[in-house]
Amino acid sequence: GAALAEADQQVASVCPYCGVGCQLTYHVSDNRIAHVEGRDGPANHGRLCVKGRYGFDYANHPQRLTVPLVRRADAPPKRGDAEMDPSRVMELFREASWDEALALAGGGLARLRDSHGKGALAGFGSAKGSNEEAYLFQKLVRTGFGSNNVDHCTRLCHASSVAALLEGIGSAAVSNPVRDVAKAEVVIVIGANPSVNHPVAATWIKNAVRGGTRLIVCDPRRSELSRLAHRYLQFTPDTDVALLNAMMHVIVAEDLVDRDFIAARTVGYAELERNVAAYSPELMAPICGVPAETIRYVARLYASSKASMILWGMGISQHVHGTDNARCLIALALMTGQIGRPGTGLHPLRGQNNVQGASDAGLIPMMYPDYQRVDNPAARARFERAWGVALDPRPGLTVVEVMHAITRGEVRGMYIMGENPAMSDPDANHARASLAALQHLVVQDIFLTETAYLADVILPASAFPEKTGSFTNTDRLVQMGRQALQPPGQARQDLWIIVEMAKRLGLDWRYSGPAEVFEEMRRTMPSIAGISWERLEREHAVTYPCLHEGDPGEAVVFTASFPRETGRARFVPADIIPADERPDADYPLVLITGRQLEHWHTGSMTRRSAVLDALEPDPVALVHPLDLAALGGRPGDVLTLESRRGRVALYARADDSSPRGAVFVPFCYYEAAINKLTNAALDPFGKIPEFKYCAVRATLGGTL
Ligand code: SF4
Repeated sequence: GAALAEADQQVASVCPYCGVGCQLTYHVSDNRIAHVEGRDGPANHGRLCVKGRYGFDYANHPQRLTVPLVRRADAPPKRGDAEMDPSRVMELFREASWDEALALAGGGLARLRDSHGKGALAGFGSAKGSNEEAYLFQKLVRTGFGSNNVDHCTRLCHASSVAALLEGIGSAAVSNPVRDVAKAEVVIVIGANPSVNHPVAATWIKNAVRGGTRLIVCDPRRSELSRLAHRYLQFTPDTDVALLNAMMHVIVAEDLVDRDFIAARTVGYAELERNVAAYSPELMAPICGVPAETIRYVARLYASSKASMILWGMGISQHVHGTDNARCLIALALMTGQIGRPGTGLHPLRGQNNVQGASDAGLIPMMYPDYQRVDNPAARARFERAWGVALDPRPGLTVVEVMHAITRGEVRGMYIMGENPAMSDPDANHARASLAALQHLVVQDIFLTETAYLADVILPASAFPEKTGSFTNTDRLVQMGRQALQPPGQARQDLWIIVEMAKRLGLDWRYSGPAEVFEEMRRTMPSIAGISWERLEREHAVTYPCLHEGDPGEAVVFTASFPRETGRARFVPADIIPADERPDADYPLVLITGRQLEHWHTGSMTRRSAVLDALEPDPVALVHPLDLAALGGRPGDVLTLESRRGRVALYARADDSSPRGAVFVPFCYYEAAINKLTNAALDPFGKIPEFKYCAVRATLGGTL
């Protein structure tokens, strides 16, 4: 009430957290957000979760970076194993003017490029930034650094899903929006915990269940949504392919396939059929821990319903066999014809607010904007014409590959905008040592993150409500985020910083603002050619593909064909590949990492939001009560977790949603950075690390 009365300005925008893309209204007073309300957007219809509603005050946090910082000449050498100590930051850095900081930041990168070649530099952009920021960042790397060494955290979340989707159906985005669950008879949610990570999407799923949709939840961890499930399949971690191939075996054996669909719209079915013949439910049941009869029942249900939809998350993608996992889901949909109609299809739930848009805009090392491959001569020629420079035909390095290239002395300088690899990369001790070994690191962020701590130049950027831009949600909905606040102190908007950096790298860039950048994007990205900035301003949200002005956009795609050369989708069979690191006598437990409802990714925003941090203030490990008792521990005890790569101490929480022998830890706590323990082994196709499986041991005690 009091806050309502105080607010004197209302700004229509979107939520800065997850890929659901809820529209909201910022109520602003005295350059502060007083409160937030849900708006009637296509994805949320007024609903918000705890993050969207209460996670806004990070923008006004006293730890905001407000002045450019330059590492002191007499600062001690950077050490990747040095824990960040914000109270001593001014011993390492000094304040600088923007002119000096940009000259040092851009000049240092230009020198490395000129003396060591174009491969000496790499850039990480951000899935939290706008489409326009992502587009300009990748353009800066490709035209200013001279290589395709540009990536972002999509590599850590759905890179394997994207690889499988591009290969199988020619498009990496979802086929149907989340809200289509209401039109589905059967919904499979696998390897995803929407109540925590896509909370408003979870509410639509719950509403659908109330309306009669049968929900099948498949997950090694029993999520909140499984309480509403018609069937809950708690399969053994790492056995996704066994489970899914067994389902396909049943569909083939019982002739539940859609022969017309397969004949008219796919290729490669015979090979898939041969492959799944070996995966009978009886053989797979002991491997995946699900009774054969349950596998049969769920397979029949999915195949024979009028409309079945699959939604999945990181539990599918973050494995060395993540691409194979996604290939199986695609094959399931294709062999049963459960795609191309309302209430069907494939929906990889995108994590960050703009991971879809950042990927679309080309913030990936093998693709230009709109997934045009850098090694395709015709695509390269198009972008060379559009950007007026010769481009490197070789795909660039991915997130984890960059860290190894630093160790080998190949990459020497980096520009990181709005990402925190010192916390988010697997084997974080190695990642931190790599970042510390860089000759020149420029970090653009709103807080002194663990990554910024290792920088040579820190450029103070703008928080989400301090700038205007477009953002693309998990449903392919391009939406407007509008500026509600002024950046504090000398902090500047990211688009301005990228343009100034480009100038220091010798590029003659002039952009008046996001509208001009978006208009350039439309000219190079056929999928959004029909979306004008003016239309976005007027309608707030437009779905792509939107090919020409006046095109309403397509919420459901692949209705008549798939965007591959032949117009047909392709089956790709998969066989069982075990996790890279299995438990053994020394490290007997499985570590699964993920997120919590109240915190977002590495925690740099939500841990500085008072309400959210009050709800979940301490680092926790979720351990099965019997495993905790076997250790002699009780809830609340300090536990040390250790892998071959690192160790952290955190509080034990008894949690019987995890299977015995598996420990779940959120990756948002800097004081117990769990990625020090995770394994950097990569899926060979998506180059995504295996965050969902590595071997650890737990002991009671330790120092927090
Ligand atoms: Fe924000 Fe996602 Fe929550 Fe919606 S569901 S309010 S987009 S965090």
